[in-house]
Amino acid sequence: MKGQQLTDAQVEHRTLPGRSRRDLADTRGRPLRDLRISVTDRCNFRCTYCMPKEVFGRQYQFLDRTELLSFGEIHRLVRIFRDHGVQKIRITGGEPLVRRKLDRLVEMLAYWSDLDLTLTTNGSLLKQQAHALRAAGLKRITVSLDSLDDTVFRAMNDVDFPVAEVLEGIDEAAAVGLGPIKINMVVKRGVNQDSVLPMARFFKQRSHILRFIEFMDVGATNRWRLEQVVPSRELVQMIDRVLPIEPVEAAYRGEVAERWRYRDGSGEVGFISSVTHAFCRDCTRARLSAEGQLYTCLFAAKGTDLRGPLRCDASDDEISQLISRVWTGRTDRYSEIRSAETAQLHKVEMSYIGG
Ligand code: SAM
Repeated sequence: MKGQQLTDAQVEHRTLPGRSRRDLADTRGRPLRDLRISVTDRCNFRCTYCMPKEVFGRQYQFLDRTELLSFGEIHRLVRIFRDHGVQKIRITGGEPLVRRKLDRLVEMLAYWSDLDLTLTTNGSLLKQQAHALRAAGLKRITVSLDSLDDTVFRAMNDVDFPVAEVLEGIDEAAAVGLGPIKINMVVKRGVNQDSVLPMARFFKQRSHILRFIEFMDVGATNRWRLEQVVPSRELVQMIDRVLPIEPVEAAYRGEVAERWRYRDGSGEVGFISSVTHAFCRDCTRARLSAEGQLYTCLFAAKGTDLRGPLRCDASDDEISQLISRVWTGRTDRYSEIRSAETAQLHKVEMSYIGG
């Protein structure tokens, strides 16, 4: 940990006064275990499936700095969520590494050594920040990367960002000990499915865990069509033919990726099949937007404001009760009822809610 002084970070790390931990279960018996925290709605990429330029152009109104939860506010909420059974925190965005001094937030949250603290990034600023993040107490990291083919990658991020710089960031993260490193690849038919095998070979050699994500109908701007989804089972067959793999038992309830290992013992790959194999039944995740809206589903249209109460001097108990009401009333199971019609519904953007 850095010797830097924590000010509002030192605001009480203890459990709520006079309260013991109280786990929550929703209407389907699902516990609250994970919290994904978006620290910004901005990103330096314009991935065509996530933040298409036509929508997120110069005229797009991103949140003002004053609207973002401060690190102190995030810290306080994490303390309350932890008291409700949250065990895992993922910092995300937008692109989390564009938020200034992010290592300081990491340092504040790393105080709780029992929390599994991780971060998802596009890797573009990782080379510069990996060391500071590790020193601040981050243990591991997930990097999103959709192709090793520079032309394909530049076209998908749509800001002409070279793949070599992301790979340097991944190497730096490995060098400073931010492992095990996971690599997330969204596969879109007709766009990057030719990159699947080269990605598998490359990360198998480096022992990073590659995970394939089915292209999802998140938000309302990415023009999702079912034909563009490459089902995980097709990818399993594609990889197995060349690099034999076998399934691995899930490590815990709510693990989103189906895990497979290479038969030669050289590591694992994962498949996140939100479209073809819904995992709502085991979903234990809540999401906090950068401005403090609490969502209980990635495909939700509406959140619950936590920033208002935070900024109106609500007590920990009042905020705790609000979170408790939201979670115990949760009914979401979007991926189980997905259809061509639901795909057209208004949903919050992934860059806003956090991936
Ligand atoms: N900027 C960070 C990053 O790139 O990892 C964090 C935010 S990003 C929204 C989180 C993840 O969501 C990325 O892995 C991204 O590829 C994935 N994602 C975005 N839109 C998606 C979609 N329509 N379907 C599947 N995954 C998507």
